Amino acid sequence: MSVANKDAILLSEDTASQIEYKQMVEATTEAILRGMQGEKAYGGLTPDQLKARIHHTMLPEHGKGYAHVLKEMEQEIIPGFVHVSSTNYMAHLHSPGLLESLAAEQMIAAFNQSMDSWDQSPIATEVEVEVVGQLCKLYGYDGNADGTFTSGGSQSNLSAILFARDWYCNEVLSHDVKKLGLPSCYADFRLYTSEISHFSMEKSCHLLGLGYQAVRKVPVDKRCKMDAAKLEAMIKEDVADGKRPFCVVATIGTTDFGSIDDVQALKRIADTYGLWLHADAAYGSAAILSGTYKNRLGDLSLCDSITLDFHKMFLIPISGSAVLVKDKNDLAPCMLHADYLNREEDEEDGYTNLVGKSIQTTRRFDALKVWVAFQTRGKDGFAAIIDKVIGNARYAYEALKKDPDYEVVNEPELSSVVFRLKGSDERNKQVRRKLLLAGTVMGQTVYEGKVCLKFTLLNPRVSHEHLDELFALIKKS
Ligand SMILES: *Cc1c(COP(=O)(O)O)cnc(C)c1O
Repeated sequence: MSVANKDAILLSEDTASQIEYKQMVEATTEAILRGMQGEKAYGGLTPDQLKARIHHTMLPEHGKGYAHVLKEMEQEIIPGFVHVSSTNYMAHLHSPGLLESLAAEQMIAAFNQSMDSWDQSPIATEVEVEVVGQLCKLYGYDGNADGTFTSGGSQSNLSAILFARDWYCNEVLSHDVKKLGLPSCYADFRLYTSEISHFSMEKSCHLLGLGYQAVRKVPVDKRCKMDAAKLEAMIKEDVADGKRPFCVVATIGTTDFGSIDDVQALKRIADTYGLWLHADAAYGSAAILSGTYKNRLGDLSLCDSITLDFHKMFLIPISGSAVLVKDKNDLAPCMLHADYLNREEDEEDGYTNLVGKSIQTTRRFDALKVWVAFQTRGKDGFAAIIDKVIGNARYAYEALKKDPDYEVVNEPELSSVVFRLKGSDERNKQVRRKLLLAGTVMGQTVYEGKVCLKFTLLNPRVSHEHLDELFALIKKS
């Protein structure tokens, strides 16, 4: 294998470079396939064992050539990967990638388009605009909506809270944050979200100059959904106290439980008090493609903005996320013109520069993976996958409920089940750690002060038999 002739630097129109690239990709593919053997989700290496493997690999005086480095990767890196497509991997909202989207990743990398300006991504810009437009329609928005792809749900949430903050400052305080920075009453701003919402709420409020104190955690009910009556009481209390409520965030699929807040109830309250309503649908968004389960999400078009994550239940490889806004003018906080990048006259002539909608500048063509997967599988292909994983969570819930050795916490609305072995917290923690090093990767969280185990079932290859085996294995461990 002549992999890595040192003369070839780039993949180009040059035939030698193309032969070289093809060989490298083929050799890499072979190594990947060899690395995918076995059913274990993890090979069991400990942190110390992993650290010992990688000391010598950084920057040698003379290049070793790709063939050599590939061999090193195969020996030292690949054995330390978790196998996200293993039926024994169910720890997080961390998905295996659909086959066609893995192929699309190769296309994205080879052409390396950048989504900031039209002249760096002509067709890619037009594809993203089309995909975003179709997504707006899918979630019930009209032609006035818009959005952008982002690096993940956290950035989508940050963007949405930025839009909400600036909207509130402009509309309610007549204060232009973009030019002037935060208004003097910034410490009074309040955002409401459930106590089990994602921690990107706090991170975003910190980054946006409002601090963690801006985040008011609303208690949840027995089904792990935000208690709307308590939300309203907290807003009233804050208003009476001179605070400035500006935003409510509904979680459409909580990270641990997959529970879905009642958008309709939250919309009524947001309207009564004049607040922005954001839907963090990072987890739940994919259920829109299921005829059976999409109604569980509620009417997301009632929200002013929506976070979608494609690298979760949609099974698109990382990264892939989008934030949508009901009114395209609300993307304005990201607009800024630079003479070297996105001249105003470009837009007038029909050359769209997407940098004006995004926090990022250089940005990946992730929209292609969504476009490819949607076209490849169609709505029925996706519906089958989503029905399968949500059905698995239901099966697990029923099985655990019947078993006297387990307590089960939540009746799943999406694809995760939280449960615990009856016994001590320590026992539950030990089981998880032990199974991790033996090749089965589960999640762990806390519910009502008790350590729980968690299955996040994103993998459509998982069967009822797999789940039965796992429950038996956990008991034995
Ligand atoms: C995963 C998740 C996020 C964060 O998304 P990333 O893509 O990991 O940045 C936000 N909100 C919820 C509810 C999530 O489950």
